[in-house]
Amino acid sequence: MEDLPRDPFADDPEDPTEALGGLEDNEPLTPAERDEAITDLADVEVFRSLLEPQGVLGLVLDCPECGEQHYFDWELLRGNLRQMIDEGQPQVHEPAFQPDPAHYVSWEYARGYVDGVIDTEERR
Ligand SMILES: [Zn+2]
Repeated sequence: MEDLPRDPFADDPEDPTEALGGLEDNEPLTPAERDEAITDLADVEVFRSLLEPQGVLGLVLDCPECGEQHYFDWELLRGNLRQMIDEGQPQVHEPAFQPDPAHYVSWEYARGYVDGVIDTEERR
């Protein structure tokens, strides 16, 4: 088990939280941002398929706009990414609802969990 830094994406140019709300209002997505959203959407689907059965309701992401953590359930994540991909517009910043934090995990946790599952299956 490795130590998890508090903000795992601080120095990461691929920051997935960036794609979920860190952009200027009504700036159209660049092709790179759109590609990133497509990748993120694929990740979200995999995360959901493995984590939802474990009782995880969604992801908690650092919001680059207000600096707070926002909770996104799976449907909201998917809807936001789909909207970015289909309409070429970043998500409008919306405040979080009041979820139970116990049911949400970070993007990095989800990534690590999925990698762990894939690892285990490859070794079988
Ligand atoms: Zn915010």
